[in-house]
Amino acid sequence: MTTSARFLDALVIGAGPAGIGTALALAAVDSLAFGVLERGQIGQTFLDWPAEQAFLTPSFTGNGFGATDLNAVHTQTSPAFTLGTDYPSGPQYAKYLRSVAAHFRVPVMSRTEVTSVARHADGFEVVCSRGPVLARSLVWAGGEFHHPLPPRIPGSGLADHASASAAWRTRTGELVVIGGYESGIDIACHHVAHGAAVTVVDADHPWDAGSGSDPSFRLAPRSRMRLEAALATGRLTLVPARAVGVKQHADGFGVRLSDGRTIASASRPIAATGFGPGLGPVEDLFARRADGWPELDDDDQSTIAPGLFLSGPAIRHGGLRFCFVYTFRQRFAHIARVIGERAGKDTSALEAWRAAGMLTDDLSCCGVECAC
Ligand SMILES: Cc1cc2nc3c(=O)[nH]c(=O)nc-3n(C[C@H](O)[C@H](O)[C@H](O)COP(=O)(O)OP(=O)(O)OC[C@H]3O[C@@H](n4cnc5c(N)ncnc54)[C@H](O)[C@@H]3O)c2cc1C
Repeated sequence: MTTSARFLDALVIGAGPAGIGTALALAAVDSLAFGVLERGQIGQTFLDWPAEQAFLTPSFTGNGFGATDLNAVHTQTSPAFTLGTDYPSGPQYAKYLRSVAAHFRVPVMSRTEVTSVARHADGFEVVCSRGPVLARSLVWAGGEFHHPLPPRIPGSGLADHASASAAWRTRTGELVVIGGYESGIDIACHHVAHGAAVTVVDADHPWDAGSGSDPSFRLAPRSRMRLEAALATGRLTLVPARAVGVKQHADGFGVRLSDGRTIASASRPIAATGFGPGLGPVEDLFARRADGWPELDDDDQSTIAPGLFLSGPAIRHGGLRFCFVYTFRQRFAHIARVIGERAGKDTSALEAWRAAGMLTDDLSCCGVECAC
């Protein structure tokens, strides 16, 4: 931990891509005192991913020509280069994060869980498993993975969430997957490939091309290709209906649909119903939008606790989502600049992030559609 006074200028909680990336941007601010606290290891979430999961956004080393690798968290790095693969597995991506943190000497304190955060006259008092830490600015980068959302229907406890290893174990016979966006199609294709007959139910039928080109709202090309291959086996059925309940019977499970039908599942159904914001110890320091996501000002800062920033996939601005690394990384340098300017530091080195296509401070340009 880099400390020059009793108060750190900034403290980052979480050492996933959002925490490491924000810390790297903070490191570009002249003489800022900052550190990162991580309850597990760097990239812990990726180490916790079920072994079968891999990235769906491709890595490619286009950095030299201004096209920074989509999964990179620093302008001069590329997971494709480090790992020699284009769709990293969880452990591979954790290795990339570890090597970037080591190369740039990011001050990370591992095995240090933050258990509570309180506002202080000059910033925040953070209590972690090693004692209290004071910081003028705080960045929550604790991620969503440990906050899986079950479907809000009776019997939801009978389903395995897609983020759990149990959901990926080999299933035989009929299987129902509730939720048809990326994780639902991913796990459905996995089980089809291993011989199951899978029905995916989702009232919003996100598997249809729909309109718009933002991958936050539309299946990624790799997922579409896998979907076509699974459909060609005849063992994948896509049902545009809402699941309204799950029941267990003597010979399996039944998922009741809004259209009155019940679809049989020989084993526990799978809920691919996403994640909540997972704000942990800063839960009470963010107001909520009508849709439940944290309310942020234009600088990704809490509207009720100034000095507390959010970095990562829970960022929402209007209808914009920042679910993927290549989207939420656009804000690392912006957050670092706001923190740096507040501390009276020189932040000019952060312009290199803009040149590398890794700094968006005007969010009105994010909704651009592809012409073809
Ligand atoms: C199956 C799957 C596939 C995905 N595929 C892609 C993809 O292809 N491309 C893409 O861009 N994104 C993908 N994502 C999304 C991406 O993985 C997440 O958005 C990313 O992990 C978020 O990064 P993060 O740093 O915010 O959170 P995390 O990676 O979850 O990191 C948060 C860290 O905070 C730590 N932490 C939490 N609470 C505390 C605490 N109280 N004290 C200290 N430390 C704490 C955790 O241990 C963890 O290390 C995928 C997600 C899933 C689940």
